[in-house]
Amino acid sequence: MPVDVGQARTALLSKLEAISRRHGAINTHLRAQDGRLDADFEDRVSFTAGDEVLERLDDAGRAELAAIRGALDRLDAGTYGVCARCESSIAPGRLAILPEVALCTDCAEG
Ligand SMILES: [Zn+2]
Repeated sequence: MPVDVGQARTALLSKLEAISRRHGAINTHLRAQDGRLDADFEDRVSFTAGDEVLERLDDAGRAELAAIRGALDRLDAGTYGVCARCESSIAPGRLAILPEVALCTDCAEG
């Protein structure tokens, strides 16, 4: 079953927004949009999730953010859903739960 990249992107952006908001980095303008995903959403999140946000994050938040941004990069590169180590397909069910994962179950456990 192919990965729904549109759905994956939405899930990743939602997570990115949640992390940014948790650290008080999303501006009131975005909140005024009622959390709706619009055309400018990704740009604004990218902007607000810059260095300023990174400074506020703890190590876990930083790692999470890096994983999400890495997944978005893989979406853009067309390699989303492919294990970064063994290059086999990552199970869609795994991606549905953890859209930012870079490794398949075998590699993550190994
Ligand atoms: Zn693997």
